[in-house]
Amino acid sequence: MRFFKPKKLHVFDTSGSLLVSLCVLLIGLKTSVKYYLARLNRKEVKRNQESPPEAIFAVMDKPTYDKSVAYTLTKSRFEILTDFTDAGVLVALLVSGILPKLYTYVMSFGHESSAWLGALFILVTTLLLSFISLPFEWYNQFRIEAQFGFNQSSLKLWISDKLKGLLLSLLIGLPLLAGILSLVNWVGSAWWIWGFILLFVFQLIMLVLYPVLIMPLFNKLSPLPEGALKERLLALGDRTGFKAKSIQVMDGSKRSAHSNAFFTGFGKFRRIVLFDTLIAQLSEEELEAVLAHEIGHYRLGHIPKSLVLSFLGTALSFGVIAWLATTPWFNPAFGFKAGVLAPTFLLLGLVGSLVTFWISPLFNLLSRKHEYEADLFAKKAMGNAESMIGALRKLSSKNLSNLTPHPWYSGFYYSHPTLLEREHALSLKH
Ligand SMILES: [Zn+2]
Repeated sequence: MRFFKPKKLHVFDTSGSLLVSLCVLLIGLKTSVKYYLARLNRKEVKRNQESPPEAIFAVMDKPTYDKSVAYTLTKSRFEILTDFTDAGVLVALLVSGILPKLYTYVMSFGHESSAWLGALFILVTTLLLSFISLPFEWYNQFRIEAQFGFNQSSLKLWISDKLKGLLLSLLIGLPLLAGILSLVNWVGSAWWIWGFILLFVFQLIMLVLYPVLIMPLFNKLSPLPEGALKERLLALGDRTGFKAKSIQVMDGSKRSAHSNAFFTGFGKFRRIVLFDTLIAQLSEEELEAVLAHEIGHYRLGHIPKSLVLSFLGTALSFGVIAWLATTPWFNPAFGFKAGVLAPTFLLLGLVGSLVTFWISPLFNLLSRKHEYEADLFAKKAMGNAESMIGALRKLSSKNLSNLTPHPWYSGFYYSHPTLLEREHALSLKH
């Protein structure tokens, strides 16, 4: 029989410090690998700038290419800085014992089994962490993005975005978390099965409600005006077996000059959203190709596949939390009592990426496979490869994309193949 006396355990117990040391080691390892990949990528980009591959000048002229190199290098330098800061903050959180202190403080407002207070503890910690990242986000938006002509947001809009986000996490995040944490009081050890069902149902509902209730808080959505473009896009929908309920235009230009297009909702709630910046940048034929690519994702079943993956991921993490919370070693290693859920949730949220980081390239590989398939779908729907290639070239140029990433870097991080890879695949005979 194993004895467990919570009072005597704190972070510096042998078993506890072992697990904390392991986390610190994994943080060091992850940060080093990220730094190494960033270095490789920077060198590759600089090497290419000295003798650029000919294919690049079909996409950008020399001044734009030089600007894209400068943008890539500036962003990468900033990413290295934020990576090291994040790592330092996480180490400090884990070894300082501040989390158990905060937990004790929050729980002192009520009963130990209160799901609301548990949820509040998680939310407060998350908010404190996002508070630390605020100056970095500000610098990125109002220095880097502004320097390269992408920032369109004002400080006022930026602050109001943050406040709305805060309000949403209080109104939606807090009750949802409290709901999940309270399940253990209702159904006991099977809580995690009900918990991930609850979360999954919530996600499905949000897929429908998000574009209707949340997106309008941040952006204005208006139907694509009648005219040649709309007719063209609806005709494409008919041709490819995609009955579009509506095509909406979003005022993305309010915040950024970067452009995008996406789907929201599912089944009969689906809708297509095009950024106004995308419409401004592309010709009608290129916009049709971009939409054909998005329809490709839909028709080829990529969306349910991603949903199933996220379903499995959620189930797995809930199972792991349920198991870790009851072990006599996990919570105590970080200064918490075994058997309480909220700290385990938070801890897994904090250190989970130390494991998932290493498998993320697999998901990116799958995502890139889907991108190639959707490109091919667009090529068939358009009857030519040129319109898709034209759209991709323009988007790369307007967004100052890095055209020459190091293959290890893009292989590890990129959810989309590089422009030259996509052009190559599109120009193959199928
Ligand atoms: Zn895509």
